[in-house]
Amino acid sequence: MAHTVTLIPGDGVGPELVEATRRVLDASGVRIGWEVQEAGLSVMEKEGTPLPARVLDSVRKNRVGLKGPMTTPRGTGIRSVNVALRRELDLYACLRPCKLYAGVRSRFDKVDLVVVRENTEDLYAGVEYEAGSEEAAQIIGLAKGKIRPDAAISIKPISAFGSERIVEYAFRYAVANGRKKVTAIAKDNIMKATDGLFYRTAREVAKRYEGQVEYDEWLVDAMCMQLVQKPELYDVLVLPNLYGDILSDLCAGLVGGLGVAPGANVGTDSAVFEAIHGSAPKYTGQNRVNPTALILSGMLMLKHLGEPEAAARVERATAAVIAEGKDVTYDMKPDRNDPTAVGTSQMADAIIAAM
Ligand code: NAD
Repeated sequence: MAHTVTLIPGDGVGPELVEATRRVLDASGVRIGWEVQEAGLSVMEKEGTPLPARVLDSVRKNRVGLKGPMTTPRGTGIRSVNVALRRELDLYACLRPCKLYAGVRSRFDKVDLVVVRENTEDLYAGVEYEAGSEEAAQIIGLAKGKIRPDAAISIKPISAFGSERIVEYAFRYAVANGRKKVTAIAKDNIMKATDGLFYRTAREVAKRYEGQVEYDEWLVDAMCMQLVQKPELYDVLVLPNLYGDILSDLCAGLVGGLGVAPGANVGTDSAVFEAIHGSAPKYTGQNRVNPTALILSGMLMLKHLGEPEAAARVERATAAVIAEGKDVTYDMKPDRNDPTAVGTSQMADAIIAAM
């Protein structure tokens, strides 16, 4: 086998999307040995944890994983397996290319953005204190009257180390992919300590690429307006975790929505490829949802594995099927109730035939 990849089917619509994607990637000409590792709610009862050590060991060994979405039940105290996986493997960079393909309904003609989101710090670090807790009281004491006594508290840590490596990743990505500009986005007029550190670090990294990649900065609120008015002016965007989460969904919306937006979580040692969308539980087992986002995530994985020609074949075939607009799922038809919409596996068949 040329490559061995850990395959995590996930739950909800995950398994059917993963199966469709696996068939497309196998048809691309690259030989991949798939090491299937179940995780999530389906293994929780039997193994006592939704993320058994064998899953992490498999990704560490193979260094590459392809993953279906996993459900995080709300209000149960169960923490997200997706977040745990990123943290355990230190997958610090979340890469989300947002490219508009011909045939996708959008308000724009040309969008080709890449969102690089920091994945480990910021308000997602999980340092939180409930209202009334002793820890919250201590912090409220330190804040000398700036925080109400009945407040709950979430801490926002941003480090020079974390900022440096994510901005460096964004510039390296820009160079490797022929991109012209990196834009750093935060809000240091308000968060002078955390976001100030992010920008200062970004400027230092940008100096190393002077003359090679352009650098600019925007405040996150102004950037939101820019993106919905003139997305064609931007290229690679690099952001701390929370802003990155929000802007990557915004950018996915610019290029046609969750059904078509791929993603990757990349660390120093390993990388896990997955769609932006979740497990869409109401569609489970219906062969209905759009496999494009996961197939394009698989395309990113092929690039990462050093298989650019196979990646290009997958992207071209997917783009051709979308452009034709015939063998596509309901969400890509002008009318969502269009009876000619095909199912998940039939769209994958059409992509395989186009290859
Ligand atoms: P979701 O992305 O699962 O679904 C929202 C809606 O988007 C769906 O109802 C559907 O209409 C549409 N949609 C999503 N994927 C689609 C596709 N491939 N094709 C066509 N339409 C699609 O978001 P949610 O409902 O907020 O979350 C459901 C579950 O997924 C939650 O438990 C959440 O925690 C989890 N989740 C997991 C991941 C991940 O695994 N990385 C990411 C986000 C959410």
